[in-house]
Amino acid sequence: MTAKELKKNLFLNKKNGLLRVSEEEIAETEKFCAGYKTFLNSAKTEREAVITAVSLAEKKGFVPFKKGEKYTAGDKVYFNNRGKTVALAVIGKKPCEDGFNITAAHIDSPRLDLKPNPLYEEIELGLFKTHYYGGIRKYQWPTTPLSLHGVFALKDGTKVDVNIGEDESDPKFVVNDLLPHLAAEQSKRTLSDGIRGEELNVLIGSRPFKSDDESELVKLNIIKILNEKYGVTEEDFLSAELELVPAFKSCDIGFDRSMIGGYGQDDRVCAYPALSAILNVDNPEKTAVAILADKEEIGSCGNTGLESDFLVHILGDLVKTEGGDVTVALRNSRCLSADVNAGLDPTFQDVFEKRNASRLNYGVVVTKYTGARGKAGTSDASAEYVAEIREMLDKNNIVWQSGELGKVDAGGGGTVAVYIANKGVDVVDLGVPVLSMHSPFETTAKLDIYMCYRTMYVFMQGE
Ligand code: MN
Ligand code: MN
Repeated sequence: MTAKELKKNLFLNKKNGLLRVSEEEIAETEKFCAGYKTFLNSAKTEREAVITAVSLAEKKGFVPFKKGEKYTAGDKVYFNNRGKTVALAVIGKKPCEDGFNITAAHIDSPRLDLKPNPLYEEIELGLFKTHYYGGIRKYQWPTTPLSLHGVFALKDGTKVDVNIGEDESDPKFVVNDLLPHLAAEQSKRTLSDGIRGEELNVLIGSRPFKSDDESELVKLNIIKILNEKYGVTEEDFLSAELELVPAFKSCDIGFDRSMIGGYGQDDRVCAYPALSAILNVDNPEKTAVAILADKEEIGSCGNTGLESDFLVHILGDLVKTEGGDVTVALRNSRCLSADVNAGLDPTFQDVFEKRNASRLNYGVVVTKYTGARGKAGTSDASAEYVAEIREMLDKNNIVWQSGELGKVDAGGGGTVAVYIANKGVDVVDLGVPVLSMHSPFETTAKLDIYMCYRTMYVFMQGE
């Protein structure tokens, strides 16, 4: 055998996916990504993602899970956990005790949350105090147009939805920054300290309520507008969840339109494929479950995060309809923790170890472990389970790669994988490489997104 042949047989051969897929597959990719861009624009927060997911699911025949109901193969149910996490299931032909095929993505993204008492006036300008959510680089947020999303929960039990800044004609909001002319002192700060948490104040108005003898007239005018529009007073901010996110829409990136730019792609770039896949799953072998979870960006904590027992409760509910045992079902279950990895950045290559970095257009990325330092905090998927996933991907001609989050000791991160592994389930991370992760405008490659969808589908449908 020649060296060339031997190399072909023995070396790890990974090539740019765009050189390997057919024109038909490129067309499918475009079609899928058009839907994805719409999803990015209409589901910018966890609450909006749940509303969108439930409405799409109901059109496909999913109904809320009901205790005491008998379900048969092919039935479609969902669990809406407080409007912030949703799990969609398609009942399999085999009993639940044979194991679930679970995909888990998250629908929360880094952003600026309003503080409980956010509204104030300073030098006759109206502002909101914010508390950032998730791992943001604070300097990236000033001078970015922002929209406000969320709810006021009122004492009488009603809820008032807020969504301002997405429509073309809507006003937007902004965090200010210094002009370079006067930024000499600020420019001496380190990048991480360039804009501080208490400097992320949002400009929301400047017109005073017309009066000659009162103070805080700009603030008064703003709360008057909010009162007229939403029926709220300043005190109602105390029981609200209001989130500021970038107001711009997602779009194609590049002359060749091969990529997508937009806010919140970590992790909607995996949530949308998982959602689309479960909506198309039909009569699977094993019960398929897609979870779109909240709170991943702050550690999966709370009763809508995957560290909670919510997952075990809903899987238990499904197993109980057959009189089975949830611990047996968990032991036999498999999960794809669908989350993003850092794509190799041409300008910042030195934080990556190139042999193990994921790259745009190389397909969906399998991440055996995440964590920091000596793999601290990762579930580290077993070799046996990764082998099973490799076989599934190759058998289905899915373009895929392996990846690691940056150089050893360069930093680190985590996903929901560890929390699901803790329940005794086999889990591996699998998702899409992202550039500028956690920034207001993240970039991904269309082919990788489509390959993520195909993976989610074959995994849940049964290969
Ligand atoms: Mn993520
Ligand atoms: Mn993240």
